[in-house]
Amino acid sequence: MTSLNLNIAKFGGTSVANFSAMQNCADIIAKNTATKVVVVSASAGVTNHLVTLANTPLTQSQSLQVIDQIKTIEYGILKELENRNAIENKLESLLDGLTELALHEELLHRYDLKDALLSFGERMSSLLFTEVLKSTGVNAENFDVRKVLRTDGTYTEAVPQIDDIRDLSQRLMLPELSSKVLVTQGFVGADFNGNTTTLGRGGSDFTAALLAEALDATSCEIWTDVVGVYTTDPRITDRARPLPELSFEEAAEMANFGAKVLHPATMEPALRKNIKVFVGSSKEPEKGGTWIVRDCEQEPPYRAITRRKQQVMVTVKTPKMMHAPGFLQQVFTIIAKHNLSVDLVTTSEIAVSFTLDNPANSVAEKLNRDTLDELREFCEVVVESDYDLVTVVGNNMHSAAGVSSKIFSSVRDYNLRMICYGANPHNMSFLVHQDNSTNIVKELHKSLFE
Ligand code: ASP
Ligand code: MG
Repeated sequence: MTSLNLNIAKFGGTSVANFSAMQNCADIIAKNTATKVVVVSASAGVTNHLVTLANTPLTQSQSLQVIDQIKTIEYGILKELENRNAIENKLESLLDGLTELALHEELLHRYDLKDALLSFGERMSSLLFTEVLKSTGVNAENFDVRKVLRTDGTYTEAVPQIDDIRDLSQRLMLPELSSKVLVTQGFVGADFNGNTTTLGRGGSDFTAALLAEALDATSCEIWTDVVGVYTTDPRITDRARPLPELSFEEAAEMANFGAKVLHPATMEPALRKNIKVFVGSSKEPEKGGTWIVRDCEQEPPYRAITRRKQQVMVTVKTPKMMHAPGFLQQVFTIIAKHNLSVDLVTTSEIAVSFTLDNPANSVAEKLNRDTLDELREFCEVVVESDYDLVTVVGNNMHSAAGVSSKIFSSVRDYNLRMICYGANPHNMSFLVHQDNSTNIVKELHKSLFE
């Protein structure tokens, strides 16, 4: 049913933080009749509270205090609703379910319970937002995403099962869309046994893109608190400006290399199905935003600069490495066995340095004693952690004359620990000391964009 002009709209945590923010979102939906599926995040702050409950050893009274903070947010929205009676009981039973899990004795070491607990933020915000949307006159219905968002059983970082998601959403969502707007939960899924799973922090963007793919949508809007994707993080320099357009590849590179606007996996479904993605601010929709498309009008050599903080650099060294075949393989086998993903690599005659990808605060835990001990059995290992990765994203960066020299000359006064250039036409990365990264981004921004 590709003839349907279907738009999926996703609203992030700050967009659904409170009643008046939710009203802005409802207006955006009411204005676009193509919007038939709405994906919401948990109201701002709620998932952080749930993560605290799930991962911190707390006394019962400490847990209840955190739960009270969540209740303040949820009841703050409920009390503004015209028709609060319609859902008051439902909200209360969700809060009861949340409380029961939060106080569960085995919560700290059971990942199935953690994921079940984390799902409550989106389940509450979608319940409340459905009512806000109804009072705007939209025929909205709250839809439990676990009926369609099938994942594997990897709790807290579940992997979506694309074919199942397609079958289920075509069967259970599509027929509803001719008469209704379905409001559903981002971030949440269910495995083959019906256990609740989650897609990793920030995963609601990914949910929206997955549903857009499954339902053959023409577009997917990501509404957040910034007016699009910027040339660089506006908190680094006030000269940063929003970009009117980006290609799928550029957006994917930016997300991978640290831009916070989009969850890194969001572009995968969009790319597979050529679904254009919009990023804009629900507070200021009139300001427009960034369109992420397959074919951009322009393919400039420099599009944006990103920074990824807290990179870990590992150097392994052995005199035996000289002319020793198989050393690299040995190192990377151990890394792979411990489920670490390597980012940049440089090699010399007797040493190899690499950086480890640092998704959602996990490196410190994953690069553990076991990994290091195993490496140390056959080589010297040095771990350094005060680095940031600065990346320039653009097009044809390895072939266009002058592109790299312009970049290098803007950073010539800084000590670059590692450089990655040429492996991919869309980026050029530097590993730099964390104390320098802000200035490096500013210098680069000045010479490439100002
Ligand atoms: N609520 C989840 C989080 O805060 C998912 C999301 O907002 O995208 O990470
Ligand atoms: Mg987000």
